[in-house]
Amino acid sequence: MNILVINAGSSSLKYQLMDPDTQNVLAKGLCERIGIDGRLTHKIPARDAKYEFEIPMPTHAEAIQAVLDALLSPEHGVIQSVAEIDAVGHRVVHGGEAFASSVKIDDAVMASIEECIPLAPLHNPANITGITACQKVMPGVPMVAVFDTAFHQTMPSKAYIYELPYEYYEKDKVRRYGFHGTSHKYVSQRAAAMLGRPIEELKIITCHLGNGSSVTAVDGGRSVDTSMGFTPLAGLPMGTRSGDLDAGILEYLMNKYNYDIDQMLEILNKKSGMLGVSGVSSDFRDLGDAAAQGNKRAALAVDVFNYDVKKLIGAYAAAMGGVDAVVFTAGVGENSPAQRLEMTSGLEFMGIKMDPEANNVRGKEAVISAPDSRVKVLLIPTDEELMIAQDTARLVR
Ligand code: ADP
Repeated sequence: MNILVINAGSSSLKYQLMDPDTQNVLAKGLCERIGIDGRLTHKIPARDAKYEFEIPMPTHAEAIQAVLDALLSPEHGVIQSVAEIDAVGHRVVHGGEAFASSVKIDDAVMASIEECIPLAPLHNPANITGITACQKVMPGVPMVAVFDTAFHQTMPSKAYIYELPYEYYEKDKVRRYGFHGTSHKYVSQRAAAMLGRPIEELKIITCHLGNGSSVTAVDGGRSVDTSMGFTPLAGLPMGTRSGDLDAGILEYLMNKYNYDIDQMLEILNKKSGMLGVSGVSSDFRDLGDAAAQGNKRAALAVDVFNYDVKKLIGAYAAAMGGVDAVVFTAGVGENSPAQRLEMTSGLEFMGIKMDPEANNVRGKEAVISAPDSRVKVLLIPTDEELMIAQDTARLVR
């Protein structure tokens, strides 16, 4: 079975054609500058081949058409006809309270995704455009929506209610939703497989640490708390996002500098986090380099980040009444042995003991805790595309 996985952004579109059973990726790539001019990068892993094309893409429909043309091309294609694509799985950022799992797309589902636009004004419209473009270019092919928020819909109300006047929840749907759900779900399932135990009996803390970061408490396979909130601005500090802060700071800075809310949010979303504190970069590799050369603010930015991850590990162990495994994933989680050591240091009291040698590994599944560590610490590369493809296959079968 071949599933085409689509992740549509406002001016870009990532795709992967894969067999969810064998996990073989036939082709993958990226359309960029949609609505501007249009560029397609197309890769075929089996041939180690990479192609780049300039193709006009006034809308997402031309982008999807370009993807299909590339997949079907006699020179750089991997399939002979559209009929070889059994279904399309779409990543959708926000499913609100309407979707607690992936769904087959029909008119009612499209209407519900549209109703979630106010909750994700930047992301959902792009996802919808991607779906409509696919429906136009590939009529009759079944499509599935996989939501970033769905995995977290199992959180109990005590974890998702903000202590604001209750009408803002009832009327305006203001609550914690959480994001990166596909990744947290995938790595928690892999963790159970690696430990050879049923997920139903495990308490797992999954740390998705990349450019955007979140930590989730997964109890018995269900998300019971997560650090992102109503928006992906919440929780940990990130590449350019502040993460949690005292809302009183907004009043203070907005009054003092006469900012309107858009200017303030631009600062919180684009100029804060690692970039804001270091003044150097939003990229953890750059910060590591700068810190090694003595840049104290770069070191401080990373220190704050590591400390906040550690506090979440402690908090979620408390929330679940214990923890069997801690998982690190995404750019930083998969690639920074030094930060993993730092984030788990001092947690021996709760049964976490790292193995510095085993931890000296990047980008592949590994147990990185000591053999006598009561809590297992795991490195698991995330694979959101595979999770989307597997959910899609399950729903169309
Ligand atoms: P996104 O959230 O955009 O998907 P990723 O999960 O790819 O981001 O993570 C990107 C982050 O991972 C960047 O800050 C990058 O510096 C960091 N990263 C990648 N490799 C390393 C490394 N070897 N050491 C430290 N950080 C790394």
